[in-house]
Amino acid sequence: MRFETKALHTSQEPDKTTGDVINPIHISTTFYQDGVGGHKGFEYSRTLNPTRKVLEEVAASLENAKYGLAFASGCAASMAILSLLQRGENIVSASDIYGGMYRIFEKIIRPSGYDIKYVFSTRIEDFKRSIDENTKIIWLETPSNPLMQIYDIKAIAKLKKKNTLLVVDNTFATPYFQRPIDMGADIVIHSSSKYINGHSDVIGGLVMTNDSDLYRSIKFYQNAAGAVPSPFDCYLTIRGIKTLAIRMEKHQSNAKAIVNFLSSHKSINKIFYPGLETHPDFEIAKKQMFGFGGMLSFMIDATIEQINTFMRNLRFIKLAESLGGVESLICIPAKMTHASLSREERDRRGITDNLIRLSVGIEDVNDLIEDLKSALNSMNKIMNYEI
Ligand SMILES: *Cc1c(COP(=O)(O)O)cnc(C)c1O
Repeated sequence: MRFETKALHTSQEPDKTTGDVINPIHISTTFYQDGVGGHKGFEYSRTLNPTRKVLEEVAASLENAKYGLAFASGCAASMAILSLLQRGENIVSASDIYGGMYRIFEKIIRPSGYDIKYVFSTRIEDFKRSIDENTKIIWLETPSNPLMQIYDIKAIAKLKKKNTLLVVDNTFATPYFQRPIDMGADIVIHSSSKYINGHSDVIGGLVMTNDSDLYRSIKFYQNAAGAVPSPFDCYLTIRGIKTLAIRMEKHQSNAKAIVNFLSSHKSINKIFYPGLETHPDFEIAKKQMFGFGGMLSFMIDATIEQINTFMRNLRFIKLAESLGGVESLICIPAKMTHASLSREERDRRGITDNLIRLSVGIEDVNDLIEDLKSALNSMNKIMNYEI
């Protein structure tokens, strides 16, 4: 089966008793046992639920993974992976990561006694220098949030020590554009709140792996800690997955057109998009991705006040946190998604106050470009008045 077919058919056969073409939402918390232990694979919905099972299996199949586990959020999924840490082990993480992930590392994991070493570049030598025998986890997001940095998954996988696991957050690319497990990652994690569900109406997380021992450990934690998604959220996510491929194509073609528009605009200083030939890691992106996705960032040559005017004058592109939904969303990472980093930490990473992140939706791209053009014009008018 190929990608689009898997999205529709993996574990989604018509119901044997009723013929439902769409898998039912199983809301039962508990399941009848025909004698003690005489159940059909389901005992209690925290442990496993039939609707969640479909989601876990179809999501795993898209990543070419044997096993999938669904969680109540991307952050809950991260905590499940981090539960693998044992005394004395450390984490090596790329520095450009989701703000909430940084908060987990600094406010939960470090105080629990684990060292986290950040690598402030995409260079393999810099990763090599940071990894040691006690490195349990290498944590990467690629493309990264919000600077769209690209990390060479295959090359970094080669740096693993005996005990090391390479974890790749594939939220931005999605399995449609990148499959890290095929390139040597041990675990793939998603915030399925983003592209996987794709409609900005479910918070969820996914963990995928090919390793049966890792699967067993993380599944144990999933059941024991209990941050599982509701059957309804699983259903919505399964429904979202069915259109992942066509959504991603449209997100990408719109993003490319917007990148073209922004490239020629005088108020835009810098654009971060892995599909730009001028992106420092364009060659790696081309090699390891099947496409460049729908996320981009740019720097506006303007003050905070002017940027606010720009944001307020946007009509279709909404100022909001999050990404990956069908509607276009824009945000200022320094003030929103990455506000949990101190100013020094942000400066060190290049997350300046004039950095704008755009999650390009699937609207007609001409409307989006006109929207940006007119909001940039209103901003520039204000600039002229002030002068
Ligand atoms: C949103 C996000 C997360 C966190 O996921 P939640 O579902 O919000 O808990 C993790 N990684 C990336 C790249 C994200 O964008």
